[in-house]
Amino acid sequence: MTVAEARGTRAHINLQAIAVNVATLRAAIGPGVSLMAVVKADAYGHGAVPVASVALEAGANWLGVASAEEGRELREAGLTAPILVLGASNADQAKIALAHGLDLTVFTESGYTAALQAGHQLSLCPQLHLKVDTGMGRVGVHPDAVLSEWVPRLATSEVRWSGLMSHLAESDAASDAFTRYQLGRFLDLIESLRRHGVDAPPHLHLANSAATLRFPGTHFTMVRAGLALYGAAPYEGSLPLAPALSWVSEVTMLKRIATGQSVGYGRTFVAPEDLTVATVAVGYADGYRRVLSDRAEVVVKGRRCRVVGRISMDQTTIAIPNDLGVQVGDVVELIGPSLRVEEVAQWAETISYEILTGIGSRVPREYRSSPKVVENRRESDSEYA
Ligand SMILES: *Cc1c(COP(=O)(O)O)cnc(C)c1O
Repeated sequence: MTVAEARGTRAHINLQAIAVNVATLRAAIGPGVSLMAVVKADAYGHGAVPVASVALEAGANWLGVASAEEGRELREAGLTAPILVLGASNADQAKIALAHGLDLTVFTESGYTAALQAGHQLSLCPQLHLKVDTGMGRVGVHPDAVLSEWVPRLATSEVRWSGLMSHLAESDAASDAFTRYQLGRFLDLIESLRRHGVDAPPHLHLANSAATLRFPGTHFTMVRAGLALYGAAPYEGSLPLAPALSWVSEVTMLKRIATGQSVGYGRTFVAPEDLTVATVAVGYADGYRRVLSDRAEVVVKGRRCRVVGRISMDQTTIAIPNDLGVQVGDVVELIGPSLRVEEVAQWAETISYEILTGIGSRVPREYRSSPKVVENRRESDSEYA
């Protein structure tokens, strides 16, 4: 047993749930559309290699990563599916990408030049997706600039244009107005390029998880789904998905606290009556965020228990109902079947994405329902030690 495992805090990843969610997404897009499984940030904290393997087996066609380094990790694990680097790549990263057969997203002249140079150096033809800003206001080339500056580049044979893409700013909002606006600009650009003699690249993609499930008009030839893959709801009222991650810890000490006694740093909690407080082996250094102090709930023996006092780096304190009969070593559910990540995100005043990607590297991930992958992970246990 490694030190990290001895601490009792771990995340269980149910790979079968990933497969179920891939099937749900596939059903939403139909057979003619490709599904990119977005596995950036270590698959939103779930483990990039096991998640990517299962997603591909279950029917995903592409993988999406944030950087060339993330793509290299998947290639080194033996995955041969098409992979797109979604973020910007500098010259060094473009070389890594080309050497590992990764497609690059470009949206600046310097990014394009980096890809070209990497191609010359390695005698390989870069495969590129041009990212257009249809309203996100972040990265992406403005549609007017695509027409005025990028048409010659789009016509060159020095690179292969594999995709034209954009990203939605408000596909999870109650109103679909801005999504329609962005969709309109994307369609207009495709039409304008055609009039400039530029054929649309083979892959046209715009939709994230929310748009995949809500707006069939945004599917084009491919969708890029992250959050839905992991079973978290991409928008309020989303159809049910299967949560893949549960996060548990253990009770390390039980203590009677008398009326008027305080608990933890800053003495934010003062017992209104005599009660039992349990210490749990998880803290903000594991990603159990300090903002959850005195607000979040956890589940012990099927019952909700409130976090009392400040969450510290490695420990959290919870109030135990008198009749619950809790013992040291009992399991404490932080996220799981009876406590969804959406609820934790709400207490933390953030989004599920940030809670999931924030689960720390010292929390071991344990995999269920895929013996092959479990074996792979065992070999690398030491990375958590
Ligand atoms: C992260 C990301 C996605 C996935 O978004 P979800 O909301 O998690 O589905 C899609 N496209 C791009 C460009 C991304 O960076």
